[in-house]
Amino acid sequence: MMISVVIPIYNEEANILPMYKRMTAVFDKLNLDREYVYVNDGSADKSQEILIELANEHQDVKYINFSRNFGHQIAVSAGLEFSSGDKIVIIDADGQDPPEVIEDLYLKSIEGFEVVYAKRAERKGESAMKKATAKWFYRILNKIIHFDIPLDTGDFRIMDRKIVNQLLMMPERHKFLRGQISWIGFNQTYVTYNREERMSGQTGYSYSKMIRFALDGITSFSNWPLKIATISGFLFSFIGFLLILYTLYSRYVIKDYQPGWASQMVTMIFIGGIQLIGIGIIGEYISRMNENIKNRPLYIVKDSNIPHASD
Ligand code: UDP
Ligand code: MG
Repeated sequence: MMISVVIPIYNEEANILPMYKRMTAVFDKLNLDREYVYVNDGSADKSQEILIELANEHQDVKYINFSRNFGHQIAVSAGLEFSSGDKIVIIDADGQDPPEVIEDLYLKSIEGFEVVYAKRAERKGESAMKKATAKWFYRILNKIIHFDIPLDTGDFRIMDRKIVNQLLMMPERHKFLRGQISWIGFNQTYVTYNREERMSGQTGYSYSKMIRFALDGITSFSNWPLKIATISGFLFSFIGFLLILYTLYSRYVIKDYQPGWASQMVTMIFIGGIQLIGIGIIGEYISRMNENIKNRPLYIVKDSNIPHASD
């Protein structure tokens, strides 16, 4: 039995070595064979040098250096692609996902679960805004899709090889791994844990990255926003039609009318707004289709100690 650990790295210079030690202690205790697949997602700090040095010292360390920052989900996807273990763990590099929880994940998974994800009982050191937006986003997302994405979970989990193989066959460029993994099915369960504060450094997830990620989550699994655009289109055309009848009635039957531009302006602006929203929603889907059609590589590897990763 060999375990692969996929670790995305974006400016984590102070966290790499302590995390390596903590993870290694866990695998030593469980007496398990392991490999670490570090994916350096275009860090601007010393992360790259530290990884290369770590790999020189330890046989079980593999690294992939991207040519620039491609984003967390793509970094994890690349790590999954080049991992070779029978079970695969995804974990953040900043200590927020405590490596000691890997033991619980592993012990649960050998009871016969293809996926065991780590569910957050408590989240330390994260802003109220982040917690609230995450909470509502996942609750709404689950209302509009046809399967459940577990609440209060990130990508911290252990998966069997067969799940990862399925995942790697999904060609979409806008990855929303936690949703894709739920979608795959099989036996999935969870263990709870307390999410820690980041050991050092600061979050690489800006609000704009979070919004993009949220839109990827929605558009990957639901066409509901497109349907809302259509339904509101029908609704407002119907109201418009009633207004036409009413206008004709007051002009020709009761002959009581005001030359009212106010009502016209209001209607125009309102309908215009609805139309723009509709176009915007369509645009979100079309731009994703466009990127999928372009079929560019998901990421570019600068160098790696995995032979087939850098060619
Ligand atoms: N990360 C990455 N690329 C990015 C942003 C983040 O590989 O563009 C990595 C980061 O190094 C960490 C994990 O993804 O290992 C989670 O990121 P972070 O801790 O910044 O996010 P948060 O925990 O604040 O949501
Ligand atoms: Mg973090």
